[in-house]
Amino acid sequence: MRIRVGHLYPDYLNIYADRGNIAVLAERARLRGHALQVSSIGMGEQVPAGEIDLFYIGGGQDREQALVADDLVEKTGPLRDAAEAGAAFLAVCGGYQLLGRFYRDVAGAELPGIGLLPLRTVAGQRRMIGDVLLDCGWAGRTMAGFENHAGRTILDDGAEPLGRVVSGFGNDGVSGAEGCRWRRVYGTYLHGPLLPRNPWFADHILAEALAHAGGPTELAPLPDELETEAHRVSAERARTRGGRY
Ligand code: GLN
Repeated sequence: MRIRVGHLYPDYLNIYADRGNIAVLAERARLRGHALQVSSIGMGEQVPAGEIDLFYIGGGQDREQALVADDLVEKTGPLRDAAEAGAAFLAVCGGYQLLGRFYRDVAGAELPGIGLLPLRTVAGQRRMIGDVLLDCGWAGRTMAGFENHAGRTILDDGAEPLGRVVSGFGNDGVSGAEGCRWRRVYGTYLHGPLLPRNPWFADHILAEALAHAGGPTELAPLPDELETEAHRVSAERARTRGGRY
């Protein structure tokens, strides 16, 4: 199958090697006989309605978020239509924040979001930095990564987090929730990049994109020795030095 990926603002939102997540998806798809077709969707560019199976948006400093926020809001309609039609989304950190209603940055400027995810974010003075370990009960799995954000994300009542914080700060350092998921839309603060050390989640995102593409969602298991070891090491690091207030 061909999996069509729309990479939003790759030139603005790409810190902590977030671009690496696309490389992992491409390789894991290739090993199962599928192919990723990645197109970038940048400033002033149209979102091709109905032609994208997976939207990806990475993280960025407040400055980069401020540069893309208004342009992203222009794309709200087609992005919401795509999500409601079952397209998958993976949004990391700064990109995750802009899928909510707004991000009030460190300087107090309120950057509009597209309101696709039921949340809002307000920056605090202290950055939340460190290794993170999550319990993703919905998948019976753990997720490990690295966070660095000033934003405190507050989920609306009834909103589903991506995971429960075992170690680290997560959305706000208080609620014990990290990330958010709605339909096939997944947002998280976890960088690293995220997917090399969480192969189960990479396959979950691939399966969601394949489901939208109308393909078989079953993915043959891969050996994943290195990935499993990377997860173990990252999880251990989080347990020993994850962020604490
Ligand atoms: N600028 C945002 C914050 O500080 C997001 C940072 C990021 O993407 N790592 O919270």
